[in-house]
Amino acid sequence: MNEPSTDAPKSTALQDLLTGGPYDDQTAEEVLRMVALTVVELADLPGNIPLAPPYPRTAQMVIDRICLLGAYRYPEAGPGEGGGGRYPRGLTDLLAWCRDRPLCDWTFLELPERFDEVTERLIETGPLRPSPLCLRLSYGVDTNTPRREVERRVMRAVLDAYKETGRDEGFTEFRNRIIECPVQSGRDYALSALHPIGGVHPQDLPMDLVYTPVHDKYFSSAGEASTCRYCGLLLIPKGRGWTCEITYCRSRTQAAVDRVLHRDDGMPLHVVRPIRELIVAPARIHASERESPHVPAPDREL
Ligand SMILES: [Zn+2]
Repeated sequence: MNEPSTDAPKSTALQDLLTGGPYDDQTAEEVLRMVALTVVELADLPGNIPLAPPYPRTAQMVIDRICLLGAYRYPEAGPGEGGGGRYPRGLTDLLAWCRDRPLCDWTFLELPERFDEVTERLIETGPLRPSPLCLRLSYGVDTNTPRREVERRVMRAVLDAYKETGRDEGFTEFRNRIIECPVQSGRDYALSALHPIGGVHPQDLPMDLVYTPVHDKYFSSAGEASTCRYCGLLLIPKGRGWTCEITYCRSRTQAAVDRVLHRDDGMPLHVVRPIRELIVAPARIHASERESPHVPAPDREL
């Protein structure tokens, strides 16, 4: 009779599901990336999602995993008792953690050591949005990842489309186009869709993964949306003026308006948030920095 293999799992699926199963820091980082992806996805969904399960797929998966992990780590902790507050117990609770607690406080996850000193949060306030750290985590990149690799990951679907048509070199023209035109009026967008970019017709490119209609929050009460003179992206109304979403943009503290678009002229579109913040803003602010050396280089933020 054969001896059981020493490699055979010593737990059952039932045990794993009830106790959280084997867990290591690599898995913890994977869960953290799912949290970041959830924040990024929710940030661009229209409001009024139901405050009850089932949530959007990634959100539901990650909250299930975190609740399971918390129950495994702190079995003695009933709601509101000793372990209460040690880990998030639902989606709104998780989002509050993202907003209120720096990553070094996420001890329930037991993340790899390099996160021990990270004092950034996943959600920034004023204006409320995913932090640059959150965006990077959602793509599995960090501050040491070369910019070219960051761009490849953020634009993978577009890059693949150019490869499939045998026009790999056209991607550079596409990249330059979105940096030049990150915000377009509905009319300009419709007109641009008639012409090839880098030798490929827009209908053969995943344009819906690149441009998205502008959310109401970017419009003033007068129905106007304004672009930033430095990073080229849309400003956010603040009081009677504007502010920029990009932390290191000069318009964050003193907004400089470039173009004004009116909602009545057709719903404008802008590139999706990861492209805005990880490709367009660094490129445009870097160009601005070369003209005015006192502006902090965006490389430090990537
Ligand atoms: Zn700006």
